[in-house]
Amino acid sequence: MLTSGGDAPGMNAAIRAVVRKAQKLGVEVIGVARGYAGLIQGDFRRLTSSTVADTIHRGGTILLTARSDEFLTEAGRARALENARREGMEGLVVIGGDGSFRGALHLHKKGFPVIGVPATIDNDIPGTDYTIGFDTALNTAVEAINKIRDTATSHERIFIIEVMGRGSGQLALAAGLAGGAESILIPERPIDYDEIVNRLERGRKRGKLHSIIVVAEGVGSALEVSKEIARRTALESRVTILGHIQRGGNPTAFDRILASRLGARAVELLVSGVSGRMVGIQNNRIVDLDLEEVLKAKKDIDQEVYELANDLAL
Ligand code: ADP
Repeated sequence: MLTSGGDAPGMNAAIRAVVRKAQKLGVEVIGVARGYAGLIQGDFRRLTSSTVADTIHRGGTILLTARSDEFLTEAGRARALENARREGMEGLVVIGGDGSFRGALHLHKKGFPVIGVPATIDNDIPGTDYTIGFDTALNTAVEAINKIRDTATSHERIFIIEVMGRGSGQLALAAGLAGGAESILIPERPIDYDEIVNRLERGRKRGKLHSIIVVAEGVGSALEVSKEIARRTALESRVTILGHIQRGGNPTAFDRILASRLGARAVELLVSGVSGRMVGIQNNRIVDLDLEEVLKAKKDIDQEVYELANDLAL
């Protein structure tokens, strides 16, 4: 098993589930340090039930994670496979995001069994309603918005808050809706500055002098949004970039349960001889899907939720 790419809270709960489910099925688990980099370097450690004790509540990943350029090459992947086989590994659980799954698919196509477990705060993986880490990051973002709202209200200021998500607006949309933002800017939908300005002006006419605007990092920069609003209205705004606090912290109960269910299912699948699949959650049922199909698909945001967020913001 390895964790790869960007870390996400709940990865440890997934690791724990893999180890303990495997133990129950009589299978040994080897942990690979630092994702594919560790597979290439042969950085392996045996994982037992006690190694993963006291980890379910911890953020980050005890296996460490990294990005590996060498794994992008045929030679790097061949070395990784050689190491894995030499170590006696018969299959690999890859906990990570879409980049990590692209790597996993290569191994599957070389005949090495892999199962993907989606873990990224971005929630940008198709085929699963949620990815591990999203709920925790969402709660962190909403908590931050609450705090910023207090000072925005006191000073009657406009705040522009940039949240993570890479190319996806999932986190921004959910944080904006839960945080009661006036406007939510996401890369999946065009930015309508006229509407943003109208909302600000309508609010001011009602006597509301503070505003929260949530911007997904994939839209560009919150600073640019602030400048554009100043250019159009002469209204000053403050910018807060939430940054990496969104990737840390104790996983929420939701993420721990999701990670436990997904990790356990990944082991069941590998042990029953299945490969090239990703586990996911749909309508609160654990499912598994063809990894290649998942990687070809694109996850759109929920239009109904997007419209609702707009309707409720007035
Ligand atoms: P995430 O899994 O969070 O999306 P990355 O996109 O950084 O993170 O991918 C993690 C690692 O997966 C990369 O550093 C690389 O080693 C491997 N990887 C990504 N894309 C590919 C690819 N197309 N082929 C092989 N390996 C890949």
